[in-house]
Amino acid sequence: MNKIEHIGIAVNSVKLAGDIYERLLNTTVYKTEDVASEGVKTAFLQAGPNKIELLEATNPDSPIAKFIEKRGEGIHHIAFEVTDIEAQMQRLKNEGFVLLNETPKQGADNKLVCFVHPKGTNGVLIELCQSI
Ligand code: ZN
Repeated sequence: MNKIEHIGIAVNSVKLAGDIYERLLNTTVYKTEDVASEGVKTAFLQAGPNKIELLEATNPDSPIAKFIEKRGEGIHHIAFEVTDIEAQMQRLKNEGFVLLNETPKQGADNKLVCFVHPKGTNGVLIELCQSI
């Protein structure tokens, strides 16, 4: 794992949260993107070398909708940058972690991603991401 690539925050509205985080970080949202396969709309902001990903559900079956229903808005996941996502997935499987997808899938921001079940990581959803 190279570094924390971004922190994902579940929000009710990317537009409203985007305004708040623009004022908080004194910057502007540099990218918004719909990830239809995940049922989310995303917005990205940068603070120095660090990125924040805001996530809004676009349908009631979206994992973000379920998360907010259960826990309210807040930190949803921590994403780690990896160089070889398949090797890291295999390594984590060998370590007994439960992966939420068996093969890397297309995520936002030109990344291949895989999620690790939060039950095995002290309640924190972990994302692996590799630039493509
Ligand atoms: Zn993410």
